[in-house]
Amino acid sequence: MADRVRASRAEQTDVIGPAGDLAAPVPTLFDEVVGQPRAVAQLTAAARRSVHAYLLHGPAGSGKRAAARGLAAALLCPDGGCGACPTCKRVLRGTHPDLVEVERSGASLEVGEARSIVARAQRRPLESSRQVVVIDDVHLDGKAVPALLKTVEEPPPATVFILLADSTPPALDTIASRCVQISFDPVPDRAVTAWLVARGVEPAHAEAVARASGGRLDCAELLVSDPAFAARQEEWRSIPSRLDGTGAAAAAASDQLLASTDEGLGSLRDQHARELAELAEQSEALGNKGIAGRRSVEDRHRREERRWRTDELRFGLAALAGEYRDRLAANVDSGPGGSSPSVVNAGRVAGIQRVMRQVEVIDRAAAALGRNANESLLLDALMVELSGMNE
Ligand SMILES: [Zn+2]
Repeated sequence: MADRVRASRAEQTDVIGPAGDLAAPVPTLFDEVVGQPRAVAQLTAAARRSVHAYLLHGPAGSGKRAAARGLAAALLCPDGGCGACPTCKRVLRGTHPDLVEVERSGASLEVGEARSIVARAQRRPLESSRQVVVIDDVHLDGKAVPALLKTVEEPPPATVFILLADSTPPALDTIASRCVQISFDPVPDRAVTAWLVARGVEPAHAEAVARASGGRLDCAELLVSDPAFAARQEEWRSIPSRLDGTGAAAAAASDQLLASTDEGLGSLRDQHARELAELAEQSEALGNKGIAGRRSVEDRHRREERRWRTDELRFGLAALAGEYRDRLAANVDSGPGGSSPSVVNAGRVAGIQRVMRQVEVIDRAAAALGRNANESLLLDALMVELSGMNE
């Protein structure tokens, strides 16, 4: 899924206008960072300081990857980030040899992957005076963090790290304390809307998608480009009205969510099957029996499928949390007419507390997904817990 998002992002360079604080001039390097004027100001200042590690943290889909490329361009450009030279352009496109972008292949970064990053960090830059290593999703990497820690703390002089994290769990405390930190917020609805409209989405539809996206550009993009994804998100949003306090309803909800996730995985599986068929054909044409390296191809497929599933379930859990928040907002807006203010306030406080607990258990489930939890047991338990919390 991330690849899908990223592939289309690369094509967006010319159409994304500055959003958020529309009046403020946005530096060219951070044009793709949408609706984050505060983070962009911090990035611009950070680019002028020479440090060996940065930590960009904030919700998924808030523009951290685009920001990392802008920051990397500022660090690699001979003019400190002019935005116009060949170095800047290649860094912003992600094709500069001294920009190393590391993405987990599975549900989270593995220790072996962390070790190869460490080896890569020791390499000398190829063209610039330094190299920039961007590591995505470090918040998921409980096991790999110790392997990275020492190198991030004391990297080779020509290497700068940019770490990206959706959150900063305690496991990241030590590493975070060694970095210049820049925080990102969910992208405001009006900025998501403007971004979608600039890409040709009809304004009313853009507004609805922006509301459903929970401040995530990656989610907004999938909602407009992938009808099956939009339908699956709707399923997640329908959960609160289906949980009636019974175990049967909770089990049915969990089963259905897993079944539609499996169904969604179908197109990636088809793609993998096609890849294997092509490899088999090529090897037959060469007169070989079987595919050379078949096992490593299949291992990669398994990791990609695992990553897709965890990402998809996280998207779903975020939609579910968003639904609970929206329901609370709707209740507060309509309010029980005629009640005394103290009754209204008591009800409102109880409602807010309930939603906070619901969102908390959903967040806990999302975090557990990166730790190879059994998805079926995890969703069953979550549905039962949420069912018990319904109004
Ligand atoms: Zn430049």
